[in-house]
Amino acid sequence: MIRVQAVAPDSLGAALGLIPGAELLAVNDRALEDFLDWEFLTADDAFVLRARLPAGEEVEYDVERPEGLPMGVTLEAPRIRRCANHCDFCFVDGNPEGLRQALYIRDDDYRLSFRYGNFATLTNLKPWDLARIVEYRMSPLYVSVHATDPVVRRFLLRNPEAEAIVPQLTWFAERGITFHTQVVLVPGVNDGAQLVRTLSDLYGIGAAVLSVSVVPVALTEFSKRDLVREPTREECRAALATVAEVAQRALAERGAPWCYGADDLYLQADEELPPAEWYGEFEQRENGVGSVRYLQTRIAAARERLGAGGAGGAGGDWRGKRIGVVTGTAMGALMPQVVTGLAVATGARFEILALENTLFGPSVTTAGLLPGGALLAALRERRDLDLVLLPAESVNDDLVFMDDVDAHALAAQLPMPIKLSYDFADALVDEEVAV
Ligand code: SF4
Repeated sequence: MIRVQAVAPDSLGAALGLIPGAELLAVNDRALEDFLDWEFLTADDAFVLRARLPAGEEVEYDVERPEGLPMGVTLEAPRIRRCANHCDFCFVDGNPEGLRQALYIRDDDYRLSFRYGNFATLTNLKPWDLARIVEYRMSPLYVSVHATDPVVRRFLLRNPEAEAIVPQLTWFAERGITFHTQVVLVPGVNDGAQLVRTLSDLYGIGAAVLSVSVVPVALTEFSKRDLVREPTREECRAALATVAEVAQRALAERGAPWCYGADDLYLQADEELPPAEWYGEFEQRENGVGSVRYLQTRIAAARERLGAGGAGGAGGDWRGKRIGVVTGTAMGALMPQVVTGLAVATGARFEILALENTLFGPSVTTAGLLPGGALLAALRERRDLDLVLLPAESVNDDLVFMDDVDAHALAAQLPMPIKLSYDFADALVDEEVAV
C-alpha cells in the first residue's frame, strides 16, 4: 500500500477524486508496494485502480489515461531499504553527532539506484526484487562492486552473506539489465592484483556493464581509521595505471574508455585529468568522475549567455564584480581550471573559497558535504564580495545543509547575496536560483 501526499489541481488524479491521505491499494488487482509499482502499473492507457479514501471508503476507478497526461499524484516518501553490510569505510560511521536524521540511515536500495543513480550493493535483494528488476527493466542500475573476488568483497562489505557479484550481474545481464559500477579503492584490500581482477571480471561480463569508476576511499575524522586508511599518492598512481590499461583496451575494442578514475584519484595521484572528450556523456559525474571537465564544458556552452567577455548576458552584467566560489578542499586545487573560463566569459573576478569541513574534519573534502556552519564562519565578515556561489549539492530538497542549517537562515546572516549553483553558469545566467 502507498499513500497520497498531494494531488495537483487540474490533474487526472484530482479529476478522479484522489486526495491527500488516500491509500492506493492495487492496479489491475496487483497490490501496490511502492512508487515503482505505481509508476509502472499506471503507465498504460487504461487500468483499474483500487484506493481507500481517508474516511475509509474503498473506491474502484476505471481510468482512461490520455497519452502523456500525468496522474498528478505525489506519493509519501518510500520506506528506504536498509543496508545489510557493515563496511569499515561506511560514511554513516563517519558522521559526527547532530546531523540531519536521514544521514544516519544506511540505505542500500536498488529502487533509488534506478531512479536517482544512488549506488547499491544488491546484497539485500529478495527473489521478489530480482523478478521485479527484470520485469520493470530497471536499467541502468548503479552498483557498488568494490571487488569481484567473493571473499574480498565480503570482507569489504563486512557481510559474509553477500552473494558473488559476477554471477549476480551476469544473471541480470542475460535478462537485459545494464549497470554503471564503482570500485571504492581501499588500499591493501582491493587495489593491486585485486583491482586488475575486478576490472577484468567486469569487462568480461560484456556490454551490460556500461562503465566502472575507481574512487579513492573517503574517510572522516570519525571513521574507523584503525581498520581502514586512505591510499597514498603512489597507490593512487598505481590504480590509475591499471585504469589506463583497461581503458586503452576498451577504447580499442569497444570504442569508449569504459573504465574511469574519479577526479579525486587524479588529484590524490597528482596527475592531470583526461580531456572532456574522454568522459563521453559524463555518466558518472555525480560520482565525482569527470566533474571538473563537465563544469568546464558547461561554462563554455553558456559563454554567450554569460555575456562573453563581460558584455552583460541574460543573467546581468558581472563585469568588475567580485564573486566568491565556495567549494570543498578536494576541488580547491582543480577549481582554477574551471574558473578561468568563467572569468573570461563574464568579466568578473572570482575568488575560490576552498573550505575545510568543520563538521566531518579536514579529510572530508567534497563540496557536497560542507556544513552551513563552515560557510557562515568563512563568509560573515566578507564585505568585499558582491556575490557568493555555493555548491547546490550541499543542501537537500528543503534547502537544509548537513548540519541542519537552513539556507535562507544562512543568507540572512551574510553581508552579500548568495546563490546555489551546480555549474556556476546556471547561477550567473538564471536569476531564479538565488537563496
Ligand atoms: S554498503 Fe557499506 S558504505 Fe554503503 S551504507 Fe552499507 S555499510 Fe555503509
